Amino acid sequence: MAFTVDLSGKTAVITGSNSGIGLGIAQELAKAGANVVLNSFTDRKEDHALAEEIANVTGVEARYIKADMSKGDECRKLIKDAGVCDILINNAGIQHVAGIPEFPAEKWDAIIAINLSSAFHTTAVALPMMREAGWGRVVNIASAHGLTASPYKSAYIAAKHGIVGLTKTTALETAEEPITANTICPGYVLTPLVESQIPDTMKEYDMSREDVIKNVMLKRQPSKEFATVEQMGGTTAFLCSDAAAQITGTAISVDGGWTALCARRRAKSPTPNGSIWRCKAGGPMGPSPGACWTVCCRKKRLRSRACPAPLPGR
Ligand code: NAD
Repeated sequence: MAFTVDLSGKTAVITGSNSGIGLGIAQELAKAGANVVLNSFTDRKEDHALAEEIANVTGVEARYIKADMSKGDECRKLIKDAGVCDILINNAGIQHVAGIPEFPAEKWDAIIAINLSSAFHTTAVALPMMREAGWGRVVNIASAHGLTASPYKSAYIAAKHGIVGLTKTTALETAEEPITANTICPGYVLTPLVESQIPDTMKEYDMSREDVIKNVMLKRQPSKEFATVEQMGGTTAFLCSDAAAQITGTAISVDGGWTALCARRRAKSPTPNGSIWRCKAGGPMGPSPGACWTVCCRKKRLRSRACPAPLPGR
């Protein structure tokens, strides 16, 4: 079978798509011929201009619909207002970084609502439309943090693990129909969401921008390269193709080997439960290399050069 992706005549709704990965996915699906509905919670001229530009470049129909993904009724209305939803991409997401005792409850609620509950609401309205059309694709954007954890990102990690689970259930409920549901788990992709984390991390650990990128962000990404929004769009287009018709309920990592590395490190650990690490600089034990490193830096205000890679615990 020759591999082609022809999505002509299909309509894709992409939540959180006026920037970053969502916009990249909308552009790639439009290149494959799909009509696209862009979304975010703002209603600015430039939001609508993004849709116009996609329509001009690719010749598909493109619209922008404002809807706040933190509100269940607006999530449901987005899909109803789109009128057709053959392809649903649940991408909207936010992040907040703090230890569990300090984590603001309203941030927890917002992250769970936008990163997880929104996908439940949109899927609930989109599935009957897909059934009526006799074809459908759901692609949920999780994260490497949907499969592994790091400290200080409790709400994000809970939401991303949740979306991997929701995808599996969606896949099982549609398994005998021409509908598939899959998760993409990106590693670090240089988007506004990631850019916004750099200044705080620079300040907190007294590091340069280059050190934050190399020693914090890409430290866990063995390829040492950011993934791109075009790669997220290409993977999504593949999942929408006929070649992927039997791929359902999976979590596909696009993370430069991040999750493979975590598994290898765990396997090499000499500890009985394989989960305790200590830091060469004498920092406290942590449940993972990242946790040990972060706690050590945070407590001792160590500069990146002084903070060595952690060793397996004894
Ligand atoms: P981004 O900030 O560029 O995009 C997030 C999008 O969500 C924006 O369009 C924003 O307007 C939208 N959004 C935020 N709150 C919303 C709300 N209440 N209602 C509607 N839309 C809302 O970030 P990104 O990096 O492109 O992230 C997109 C998705 O990819 C997120 O789910 C994120 O968790 C996930 N992800 C990103 C990375 C990365 O490295 N960039 C890695 C793994 C997973």
